[in-house]
Amino acid sequence: MPNRLNDSELLARNLTVAYVIAVVVTALALLLRWLLNPFLGGHLPFATFFAAIAIAAWSGGWRPALLATILGFGLSWYFFVPANLSFDVSGGAYWTAVAIYFAVSFVIAGFGEAMGAAQRRMRRARKQAGDQAEFLRITLASIADGVITTDAEGLVTYANAIAAELTGWPAEESVGKPLTSVLRLVNERSGQPLDNLAVSALHSFRAGQPAEPAILTSKNDVRRFVNTSVSPIRDNSGQAVGAVLVFRDITGLRKTEEELRLRVQQATEAEERMRSVVENVIDAIITIDESGIIQSFNASAERLFGYSADEVMGANVSGLMPQPHRSAHDSYLKNYVDTGVAKIIGIGREVEGRRKDGSQFPMELAVSEFSLGGARYFTGIVRDITARKHAEAALRQSEQRKKEQAAALEAILRATPTPIWIAQDPDCRVVVGNHAACRLLGVPEGTNVSATSPEELRVFREHRDGHPVPADELPMQIAAAKGIEVQGASLTFVFKDGRVRHVYGNAAPLRDAEGAVTGCVSAFMDVTELKEFAERLRSADRQKDEFLATLGHELRNPLAPIRNALEIFKRADNDAELLERARATIERQLAQLVRLIDDLLDISRITRNRLELRKERLELAPLIQHAVETCQPLADRAGQEVQVSVPAAPIYIEADPARLAQVFGNLLTNATKYTPRGGRISLTVERHGSDVVTTVKDTGIGIPSDKLESVFEMFTQVDRSSDRTQGGLGIGLTLVKRLVQMHQGTVTAQSAGPGKGSEFVVRLPALIEKVEPAVPSDTTTETSAGRPRRILVVDDSPDIAESLVMLLRLDGHETMTAHDGPTAVVRAEQFLPDTILLDIGLPKMNGYEVCRVIRGKPWGKDMLIVAMTGWGQEEDRRQSEQAGCNSHLVKPVNYATLAKLLADQQATTSETTR
Ligand code: ADP
Repeated sequence: MPNRLNDSELLARNLTVAYVIAVVVTALALLLRWLLNPFLGGHLPFATFFAAIAIAAWSGGWRPALLATILGFGLSWYFFVPANLSFDVSGGAYWTAVAIYFAVSFVIAGFGEAMGAAQRRMRRARKQAGDQAEFLRITLASIADGVITTDAEGLVTYANAIAAELTGWPAEESVGKPLTSVLRLVNERSGQPLDNLAVSALHSFRAGQPAEPAILTSKNDVRRFVNTSVSPIRDNSGQAVGAVLVFRDITGLRKTEEELRLRVQQATEAEERMRSVVENVIDAIITIDESGIIQSFNASAERLFGYSADEVMGANVSGLMPQPHRSAHDSYLKNYVDTGVAKIIGIGREVEGRRKDGSQFPMELAVSEFSLGGARYFTGIVRDITARKHAEAALRQSEQRKKEQAAALEAILRATPTPIWIAQDPDCRVVVGNHAACRLLGVPEGTNVSATSPEELRVFREHRDGHPVPADELPMQIAAAKGIEVQGASLTFVFKDGRVRHVYGNAAPLRDAEGAVTGCVSAFMDVTELKEFAERLRSADRQKDEFLATLGHELRNPLAPIRNALEIFKRADNDAELLERARATIERQLAQLVRLIDDLLDISRITRNRLELRKERLELAPLIQHAVETCQPLADRAGQEVQVSVPAAPIYIEADPARLAQVFGNLLTNATKYTPRGGRISLTVERHGSDVVTTVKDTGIGIPSDKLESVFEMFTQVDRSSDRTQGGLGIGLTLVKRLVQMHQGTVTAQSAGPGKGSEFVVRLPALIEKVEPAVPSDTTTETSAGRPRRILVVDDSPDIAESLVMLLRLDGHETMTAHDGPTAVVRAEQFLPDTILLDIGLPKMNGYEVCRVIRGKPWGKDMLIVAMTGWGQEEDRRQSEQAGCNSHLVKPVNYATLAKLLADQQATTSETTR
């Protein structure tokens, strides 16, 4: 950018130019004079130089004009004044011309100077005007307002760029147009078009007159808010020659104003709302300053704490807290203010509040901080959480209860012996059982045993009535699918390994809170044993019925011959042989009856596990011999041969002689019973190592192989239906087996089949050392009357008492009877017997009491008192002994045994029998 020259520099430059011009035009004038020289000769030597002087004066004033004058004089003198080409000034004729020349030159120079000065002034003025116009143009173009000028008629003479932009009229187009068509304004408030502002301005004397706020519609119909001011333009005489309008787009301003107004309104509303919220919220809101002094206390706070706002405003907030929170609060607050470390600030936490009445309550506190006017404040929002705490405690309790219930349920499921299965999906695709269920199925806990599992994964199949049950017909699936309870379902689990278990139970659907089925639970008891037991019971019941029928039959059988024999007694007169046969019949049948009853009592003891052995060391052979002798009459009557083979060397065993005699007696009796007339019976005793083996063999009807085991079961008879005459209750072999077992032995039955005879083998442990055998005490057959005794027979049955009295009298004893307890005591005192045969089951006072009373009397101390009762167990014997009895005999008493006992008592009255 060229440097702008200041005025003096400009002047100097113009002067230099003018000097150059002066030189140049003088040279031209010289050239012109030289060209005219042929015409002029020595005349007018200065003629052409006047023009050069005038030009130099015009271009630069008097100085260049003087230069041109001097140069012109010199040159013209030298070249054109005679004696040319010299400065000889001797010819005086030229001095006048020279004078004229200078005079004219000075005039021209003065005139030129004046003209040049005027021209320079004019130029300067013009330049100044141009500069001003440019300044105005730039100013107008650069200001942010629209500017339009008009002439006195209101026609636009100028519009700046902003005006063009706002009106939409390009500046050049708008010039010459009426202002009203370029600047279309309506009053903002009234909406009326504004008057021609330019015209009105012409009549105004004031400048910068603001017009009403208006809306400007541009050429392309854009509406803007504008502020306008108008001023008249006046000429020097004060005449209004036009107007200038300045207008500014305030649309943005208006928008900003509007936004501001809206914001202020919103802020006001928000504040109002906030105030209303603060006053109406359920939460208590308390504002405090840095010192903890309460600044605000809303209505909820009043309700919550029981203080009115007036009461607490200005007080310390710590008054709303119980100890120890109260003391701690001030230090909290101070600490926070000092360090910025918050203990409560901004954190919702649970603390304790204190009401005006001193009561405390749990509350949730959230604190926020704000600054106002350079001071710090804290707003606490307090919520009473008493109800929530209660609810939480209740929830905790209920959850605890649920946990305990769940644990209890799990424990129950685990402990219960009933198998239980649970499916937790409505299709029962995953079915898991409890401990008992897994044990029943023989699967690890947690195994899925669903019937929908692939066949290869299943260890069992459910059957009903011998057929597999389809999965969808199983109780759990039905319960889940139909949402019903299935009760009393019976199933049979058939396992892959062949096991079979019968189960019985129920299934019920599991439901969620809405009642939708979510699964199923089932409980099935293993009733396999029950079923088997029921079957056994049924069978036992059948056997019992059959047994009772048999018993009735067996009891009646001996009665007919006894009745007949008694009839013979009436009619036989003194036919001794007939009488003897009748007596023998009675004796046999009675023995049969006694045996029957003995067996029944024994079997009863066996079933109650009360059978006791009185073991002793004894030799087997005499015992065997005695059993054979007992059965011999039966064999003889049946025409059967009995062979006995016993080793020569004695074999000792430890046994109850009576019970062992019962064993072999039963086996031999059976052999005679089930062997036809003329058959053979053999009894062999052999030593097999440490055992002694006794075999009872017959040639009888034999036993089917499938019955060889069961003949030892109670009430079992191989052929009960056939018209047998052998009698029996089906308990003999049961007794045999049990008694042998009680002697640590075994008994087995063998038979080649029906009609091929039977063989019963009894194996007993033998004793090694030799001992003196004991003689069985109740097998004595001999009777011994001994010396006559005074005997009181006490029995509530007159028949028993009288029959026994008859027998005793036959042996020469003196007797008396009594049929109840008190009478027995009275009779004993009157009769003073040396022996009392005392029944235990007596009316009014039982035998034990009678014994005790008598033993309490001086006269009763040395009497022999023998208990005679149907009860023969150890306990019964112990009771007899405790009551003071010397002996205990079991009814029906074998008279020989009694006679022996009485005889033995003669030797020593203190000895007792079994
Ligand atoms: P019972 O009173 O019927 O004889 P047991 O218990 O003594 O009762 O015998 C049971 C059954 O065993 C008999 O009913 C009979 O069918 C069969 N039995 C016992 N001993 C023999 C035997 N020696 N020969 C064939 N069958 C026998």
